Amino acid sequence: MTSQLLPGNIVYGGPIPVRVAQDYRSLGQYVLDKYKSFGDQTVMIDAVSGTEYSAKFMYDSIVRLAQILQKLGVKQNDVVGLSSENSVGFAIAMFAGFAVGATVAPLNVTYSDREVDHAINLSHPKVIFASKITVDRVAKVAAAKNNKFVKAIIALSGNSKNHPNVQSFSDLMNNDKFKTTPDFTSPLANKAEDVALIVCSSGTTGLPKGVQLTQSNLLATLDSQIQPTMMPLNEISLLTVIPWFHAFGCLTLITTATMGTRLVYLPKFEENLFLSAIEKYRVMMAFMVPPLMVFLAKHPIVDKYDLSSLMVLLCGAAPLSRETEDQIKERIGVPFIRQGYGLSESTLSVLVQTDDFCKPGSVGVLKVGIYAKVVDPDTGKLLGANERGELCFKGDGIMKGYIGDTKSTQTAIKDGWLHTGDIGYYDNEFEFFIVDRIKELIKYKGFQVPPAEIEALLLTNDKIKDAAVIGRPDEEAGELPMAFVVKQANAQLSEDDVIKFVHERASPAKRIRGGVIFLDEIPKNPSGKILRRVLREMLKKPKSKL
Ligand code: AMP
Repeated sequence: MTSQLLPGNIVYGGPIPVRVAQDYRSLGQYVLDKYKSFGDQTVMIDAVSGTEYSAKFMYDSIVRLAQILQKLGVKQNDVVGLSSENSVGFAIAMFAGFAVGATVAPLNVTYSDREVDHAINLSHPKVIFASKITVDRVAKVAAAKNNKFVKAIIALSGNSKNHPNVQSFSDLMNNDKFKTTPDFTSPLANKAEDVALIVCSSGTTGLPKGVQLTQSNLLATLDSQIQPTMMPLNEISLLTVIPWFHAFGCLTLITTATMGTRLVYLPKFEENLFLSAIEKYRVMMAFMVPPLMVFLAKHPIVDKYDLSSLMVLLCGAAPLSRETEDQIKERIGVPFIRQGYGLSESTLSVLVQTDDFCKPGSVGVLKVGIYAKVVDPDTGKLLGANERGELCFKGDGIMKGYIGDTKSTQTAIKDGWLHTGDIGYYDNEFEFFIVDRIKELIKYKGFQVPPAEIEALLLTNDKIKDAAVIGRPDEEAGELPMAFVVKQANAQLSEDDVIKFVHERASPAKRIRGGVIFLDEIPKNPSGKILRRVLREMLKKPKSKL
């Protein structure tokens, strides 16, 4: 589909050609009906254990868990938290949540106590599913007196005996006390209002917020993904290691589940396993982020594996350099490398490269159902082709808003247009390019690192008078969080002390890997806003001048 230019310099990707998912009574019912229709077909493969799961197994498990959730008191529009690395249990728990019409709130598995507490206080989950690696933390945080809204914790894996308030998933699923039926009808949803997912994003500024994606957001996105393929979908193996707690990972899980492809998944990146999974399962397409692309382009171990099945690499979440793309093409001969661009706030990508639109450095063209405009961030003027400004998007995938934060929602969405905080332009063929970011966001290996959050954390240190955090450019990670720190008078504080302080209190992506620079004063404008551009300029100067 070729984009169209509408009056007022608005570019449109054209209508979504099919209405399948959008006409369903609910997202939960759509997923259930899809799994039912795929029968005994293998739909998921755990690359670590080699276990294969059929659509029938998924259907039966989701139907049983949905009914158990109802018996545990989970009702339509209640929130179900989900803190797990990629696993079949993650998928069953999420889809069972959808089946009962609940909202699912995935939590980053690397979160510290403080971060889990912040995240659950945004979404207020009634039940939280946790995995072996997160159950201790989740149980501890949920036990705090302010978090009484958590009524039950279900351990998807591992031993839960240490926690009186934690129940085991397998015990629940096998407990005869819960009488369930082999089929289940999902409650009728108010699709435009009912929230299916709450994912964490800091948006353009401030602390992490809860992005509310409605059932309509997801169903329209699923319809927009339907495309003719060269091979039957059930013969296509896809690989993902992108965490499902992040919007990109989560939406690829939902999309592939409803398409009937075979999704090979890894709980975390491990070089040999990643490569051997491609070889063993003859993976045709892999979901990627730039650091994984750099790995494929550069790591010597890659040559030891037969990756000839790979036809497509779909890369998103952060900018991918042309050099890396060329190196991969030359080294492995993958015919199609496609970049996509999107935000948690837009459900999935809004721009994607296609066979006809994949110029060097571009993020492609508008997906169907999406409108775009480019706005001068200073004057608000609508810009035309080849003019750089803030990219704004409108369409069925744009979030309902940030939970409990009307002010931030109104700043992010104006007249239905999502303001991204990214600077870019479109060329004469309506192909888009991202050139800068004006929002206060660092992306470390595709993960969000909100500077305001680390700054607030640093200011809790008695020896720190003031602090500012920015991203230091890095080839592999994209950006490394680095801190500018003003010490309290006479305080003894080293770079290592600052790094350790953050390390002990924040998840790994937020560690100060880019180093610390001590200053006498943080540059700010008269209203007290940190002048990050000045700090970035400082970085470019030789160290002696700092
Ligand atoms: P998230 O909500 O974590 O997916 O982060 C969204 C942000 O990631 C966007 O606003 C961009 O700043 C950045 N981003 C995502 N995809 C790309 C891409 N292909 N190129 C450049 N930046 C990207």
